[in-house]
Amino acid sequence: MTQINKRRDFVKLLAVAGLSLYLPACASDEQKKQAASKKNKEKDPVSEIEEAIKSNNVTYLKKSDEPFDELNQGFNLAAGKAPALIALCLNTQGVSEAIMFARKEGVKVAVKSGGHSFENFSSIDDGLQINLSLMNEVKWVDQTAVSIQPSCTLREMYDALLPNNRIIPTGSCGGVGVGGITLGGGYGFFARKYGLTCDAVKEVTFVDATGEIHQVKRGEELMWALKGGGNGNFGVVTEFTFKTHPAPESFTRHRFKAYKLDKPRAKELMKTYFKYTKELPESCFAAFVLNYKTLVLLITNYGPKNEALDNMIKAFSEICDDVSIGTPKNLAESLRNYYGIEYPIYFKNASAGYYENYETIASSIDQVLDIVFRKRGLIYQINTLGGNINNPEFENESCYPHRSSPYLSELQYYWDEKKDPSALLKSFDEIQNILYENGIRKQYRNYPSLGFKDWERAYFGDSYERLQEIKKAYDPENLFYQQQTVRLKK
Ligand SMILES: Cc1cc2nc3c(=O)[nH]c(=O)nc-3n(C[C@H](O)[C@H](O)[C@H](O)COP(=O)(O)OP(=O)(O)OC[C@H]3O[C@@H](n4cnc5c(N)ncnc54)[C@H](O)[C@@H]3O)c2cc1C
Repeated sequence: MTQINKRRDFVKLLAVAGLSLYLPACASDEQKKQAASKKNKEKDPVSEIEEAIKSNNVTYLKKSDEPFDELNQGFNLAAGKAPALIALCLNTQGVSEAIMFARKEGVKVAVKSGGHSFENFSSIDDGLQINLSLMNEVKWVDQTAVSIQPSCTLREMYDALLPNNRIIPTGSCGGVGVGGITLGGGYGFFARKYGLTCDAVKEVTFVDATGEIHQVKRGEELMWALKGGGNGNFGVVTEFTFKTHPAPESFTRHRFKAYKLDKPRAKELMKTYFKYTKELPESCFAAFVLNYKTLVLLITNYGPKNEALDNMIKAFSEICDDVSIGTPKNLAESLRNYYGIEYPIYFKNASAGYYENYETIASSIDQVLDIVFRKRGLIYQINTLGGNINNPEFENESCYPHRSSPYLSELQYYWDEKKDPSALLKSFDEIQNILYENGIRKQYRNYPSLGFKDWERAYFGDSYERLQEIKKAYDPENLFYQQQTVRLKK
């Protein structure tokens, strides 16, 4: 069959086939018979497409089909993309069929689980989106292991696990998909004790770029690659089996605020943050959030009362303007406070480097603060990592390369439809350039930005060449290809 490389041709052909692609998931017996009888006849593009779309496992939609836009919509309204076709998959077989279909047609593929990619890497202009929205099941394998399909959101995951008093270490925003967060690493309140989300993965079902289905287990090279480098690079994970951990009995949140900051005070607060967070036990998480001239400092704990935390609370109580000391609360209720907005919004978020300590940013912080203090809107945040994320066993088993850095920084900017974001986006880039020029070049794969220079090294560090070998083995024809997917070696 001739390859149809141009989107226009591809869509035209689908239209010629007279197909409203949003077929009911089950083809009738008559349809199946017709398709089978056609098999032996001479093939033409139209009949091949007709055959391909009659499946119990996947439903294809083109732009004019009703739920197309809704299915394609990602969380970031500022990063729209227009695929030629969406393959709405019901199961692993459906994903395999959709991949074979795209391969035959010569169109590139992107995968969507929760749709929360900052750069909307789960959609693709003129290509095929493999949409996993209907694959969100959670099933207990035994008392401690759980199987989760990729488009299950974190809210749905917590709803299923917490009544059984179990957790997996992951983020807290309700709408984020298990698929993307796990395959890029995944951190949150529980990571310092239990490792990243990917570290809790025991087994996955994976469909490679030829449509072949693999059961991948711990210790295999492909599993190493999927833990931190799996999102959208060389295939589709259709099911994860996770090890779960006991859910803590309670959760406490402390919050501190400091207003009308100038540079010396902001720097002093930051130094104090690095000094005290270094000593915190693994049950604690902290975030230093600078929004224009206001600092909001969050410290959470689900372990017992401890001296390092008390010292930090005391230190910040003395230097902040507003102090809210929390008391232990029910975990499920507390987590719900962090689910956040789940409908699409306009924003630009990105990793702003991994830090070892204050020294990492000492040479750039004056310039960074000048920009953050210039105009309301930019948020500069530093989160704690460390603890068990840096466990050597986890390190050996995954390609995630930044374990030894105990802090991850991020930049955020949100705006509404009516606002022109260009000035603040320029400031955003200015900060990224300052950090880069000062040697801050390691970035979190799950907080991507198209603006990163040397993105291969930034996300994957020394793991990159090994990931290229995986790419060659599972996606030799570069089916999964967009701005920042692992490249085949030249
Ligand atoms: C509001 C918000 C809060 C966040 N909070 C956190 C946090 O607390 N901790 C944290 O670590 N991260 C956090 N993130 C980042 C988050 O981890 C990433 O955006 C993640 O990639 C989203 O996953 P998704 O499935 O929702 O997104 P998608 O957009 O569906 O996918 C993201 C990427 O993964 C690929 N992908 C998705 N599913 C599969 C699959 N099954 N097989 C292969 N590739 C796949 C996609 O192609 C895309 O490249 C947050 C993001 C947002 C927007």
